[in-house]
Amino acid sequence: MQRLNFTLDEETIRLLDQLAQKYYHGNKSLTVRSALESLAVHAGHEGWSVGGYTGVVADERTQCHTCGEMHDKGNVLYRPVFQRGDGPRVLTHLPVEIWLECASCVERQVVA
Ligand SMILES: [Zn+2]
Repeated sequence: MQRLNFTLDEETIRLLDQLAQKYYHGNKSLTVRSALESLAVHAGHEGWSVGGYTGVVADERTQCHTCGEMHDKGNVLYRPVFQRGDGPRVLTHLPVEIWLECASCVERQVVA
C-alpha cells in the first residue's frame, strides 16, 4: 500500500463523494480503485488472471471456491495470486470474497 497525494477540482471531489457514499459506504480509496478498474476494462486493457497459488492453512472450516467441498480447519488450501493478464478465465474485477481452492481443483486448473 502506498499513500498517493494528488489534487482534484471541486466538481470531481463532489462526484467522488457521491459515488463513494452511494456504492462504497463512503470509502473513497475503494471508489477510486473501482473507477480505475472500470476504466481499464473499457479502455480495452487486460483483466486479472490467476498467476499462481500460495498455500494457506485453513483457520476454520472452509469451502473450496471451485468444487464447494468442505475442508477442516488445519487443512492446506490454496489462495490464487492474481496478476494483470488475459485468457479464457480472466476476471474484470479482483474478487472481494475469500477465495481458497483445494489441491485437486488447483491441479485441474494448472493442467487445463
Ligand atoms: Zn476444490
